[in-house]
Amino acid sequence: MKIIQIPLLRDNYGYLIVCQKTNSAGVIDPSEAEPVLRRVEQEKVNLKAILNTHHHRDHTGGSEELLAHGKLEVYGHKSDGGRIPGLTHAVDEGDEIEIGELHGKVLFIPGHTTGHIAYLFGGNLFCGDTLFAGGCGRLFEGTPEQMHASLKKLMTLPDQSKIYCGHEYTEGNLRFAVTLEPKNHKLVSRFERVQGLRMRGLSTVPSTLEEEKQTNPFLRWDSKEIQKMLKARAPELRLDPVSVFAKARQLKDSF
Ligand SMILES: [Zn+2]
Ligand SMILES: [Zn+2]
Repeated sequence: MKIIQIPLLRDNYGYLIVCQKTNSAGVIDPSEAEPVLRRVEQEKVNLKAILNTHHHRDHTGGSEELLAHGKLEVYGHKSDGGRIPGLTHAVDEGDEIEIGELHGKVLFIPGHTTGHIAYLFGGNLFCGDTLFAGGCGRLFEGTPEQMHASLKKLMTLPDQSKIYCGHEYTEGNLRFAVTLEPKNHKLVSRFERVQGLRMRGLSTVPSTLEEEKQTNPFLRWDSKEIQKMLKARAPELRLDPVSVFAKARQLKDSF
């Protein structure tokens, strides 16, 4: 399996996933068509499918133009029928997807939107705007309970899973993270490393689930330091996982 990251719009990432045995490919979250078509041509692969993680325009904006170039399967959550352009394969938790001989699995992870899904191909997770490198998506449609449960579900994957998220937001995410956990050495050194990569215009994605567990504040509701930091700002805060997650998310919204 070959994975090609395609920078789109201002800070989006689309991904071309290629079955090297059959030369079939799928594109995850095509924000725009042109750069995707160019890559498909360069790689000389046959684009067979569009895999949407959620309905937002910055993840689906290129679909109509791609579909105008040829017939494609279009995947998205079954609740997003009216919101994902050209949906042909309405999927849900546990459904399986084939791109050539590649086998993927759908995970239902609502929170950012009510119909958000992730695609898992082997150890590679394409999680859109749910889990970011160093952060998580805003709660546009779902509740903190839903998002917390979705992130918890992703945390059950193997530590070495690669996290391919939908945006290059890592530096800003970690800038916020160090305000909540300044004594987390792994976090501080990750922030420095990421700043160095961004200064050179390089991508910070993918990360690994292990890195996220160690440094992403939205997976660290059990961290005593984060709990203390949040409690100092909101003395009434209860320290159950959902409340800690919700408070951190709320602070990030206005960071
Ligand atoms: Zn989104
Ligand atoms: Zn997005």
